Amino acid sequence: MMPDKCSVTEEGKQCVNPPEFIVSIVDGKDEYMFGLTCQKHRTVVTGKLGILQNEGKIHNGKISFTPVKSVGTDCVHGDVDDFVQIDMKKL
Ligand SMILES: [Zn+2]
Repeated sequence: MMPDKCSVTEEGKQCVNPPEFIVSIVDGKDEYMFGLTCQKHRTVVTGKLGILQNEGKIHNGKISFTPVKSVGTDCVHGDVDDFVQIDMKKL
């Protein structure tokens, strides 16, 4: 079952955007899935995973984003956050 929301939590609030990418780390022949992200949080997630990789908390490897589906997305106009705190639920 695929969750229907982005996996990012901002300031204690679950992002409500629909997921657009499956986030995984590709390590040679293995792929580790971490969660889902919307377009808005894609770069944030990349940064977060990079930090965790540097700290040795997760697998090293290439961070991969696989589009969930290419169905036309609704026009979601989210609030612009000045400051983003990410907290990937599965980490
Ligand atoms: Zn999001």
